Formats: sequence, structure tokens, C-alpha cells
Amino acid sequence: MPIVLKSPAEIERMATAGALLTEVMDQVAAAVRPGVTTAELDRIAREGILERGAKPAFLGLYGFPASVCASPNEVVVHGIPGEKPLREGDIISIDAGLFYQGYAADMARTFPVGRISEEAARLIRVTEESFWKGFEAARPDARLGDVSYAIQRHVEDAGFWVVREFVGHGIGRQMHEDPQVPNFGRPGVGPKLRPGMTLAIEPMVTLFTAPVVVLDDGWTASSGRGNLAAHYENTVAITESGPRLLTGRR
Ligand code: MG
Repeated sequence: MPIVLKSPAEIERMATAGALLTEVMDQVAAAVRPGVTTAELDRIAREGILERGAKPAFLGLYGFPASVCASPNEVVVHGIPGEKPLREGDIISIDAGLFYQGYAADMARTFPVGRISEEAARLIRVTEESFWKGFEAARPDARLGDVSYAIQRHVEDAGFWVVREFVGHGIGRQMHEDPQVPNFGRPGVGPKLRPGMTLAIEPMVTLFTAPVVVLDDGWTASSGRGNLAAHYENTVAITESGPRLLTGRR
């Protein structure tokens, strides 16, 4: 499929969708603590999305049964919210998406549950930093590979592993559009970035090298026992003056 370029007016609409999703993610963040269930976090997100006149984008997407993906500890992505309470020392990745007036926003964060290990905290920090490296590389006339490479280099310099099995994506009227946005790659290759492209840039990082395996529920993508995973995602527009953040804040 060709990459769909958005007009400045469409990017404004996506920014509105993104601002709403950021508010919802703030509500979820405020509820993360030992003892809370991921089903409760999902409920908070769903109600937050609906209260804002938006539609949960993940509910029913390819048959997914909830409004957020809730991926604890070694789960990389696509964890299904459930009734098991989070425990002190866990980390929990929440990926949420919504549609507002026909445009999608997509965003993920990994939160500490109470006090976490130094290693887990560093994993979360490096994953966020790698997003910003990719963000800064997402300039008009750069190549997509420049974004991928910037993320990978930062993660690997820190001694962690970039997940290969899942990648970022274009986003707009659809939650998933072309191009794919890998978190690994070579500079100077791939599609040229142009004003009007809108991308979900989403590094997924694990402590060490391991294949990511989808569990029997058909969704939960796990990097294996003891291999913590973190995720940081924002929706980003390429504009004439550089990358523009449509979800989250600096
Ligand atoms: Mg995404």
C-alpha cells in the first residue's frame, strides 16, 4: 500500500486525537500501583476514551478483546488485561489507541509498580530515550532507516536488545498503515520521510537477546522468563519544520 500523506488540517485532527489519548494515559498512569489489576486499568482507559467522545481502537481490532494491551514484566506486547493483581516490583506496559473524528492515535508506556529494580528502571529509561533518538531522526528528507538506526544504536549502546518481531507503523485514518517502522536498521535506506507522513514510533526493548514467542492465548507476546521488556510509543507527524509529537509530551 502507498504511504498516505496527511494535510496540515488532518494532522491537526490527529493532534486532537493524540491529546485525548495522552489524557487517558495519564489517568491509567495514576492508577498503577501494587494490587491493581490490569482489567481495572483497561476499564479506566475504556471509560476515559468513551468520556472524551472517542472510540477505543484496540477493542475488536483483529479480534483483540480489550481496550488496552497490558503487558507485564517479560511480556513485550499484546498482553490481555486480566484479574491478576500487579505486585510491587513489577513493570507494566500499557499500549492504548483511540479513534476521534475518524483519526487514530496510538501510544504506549511502561510503568513501574511501586519500587522496581535498578535494572528494570534503566530498561524503561533507555527505551524512552531510544524513542527520542528516533523522533529526532524523523526529519523531512531523512530516510526511515535513519529513525530505525537511531533507536537501535541507542538501545544496543546501553547493552539491551531491540525486539525484531514487532515494529512501528504508519497511522492515520487506519490504526495500522504503511510503512512499517522497525526499531532496527541501517541509516540512509528505506522510504524518504516527507511532510504529511504520520508514524507510530514504538521501540520495544528487552534485557537480553531472545526470540519473542506468542503464548497459547494467541496474543501474549513474551520474551521468556526473566527477560523484562519495555515499550515506549508515540504518534508522530513529519512536518516541514521537523517531527511533531501528536501523543505524549517532552
Ligand atoms: Mg502502535
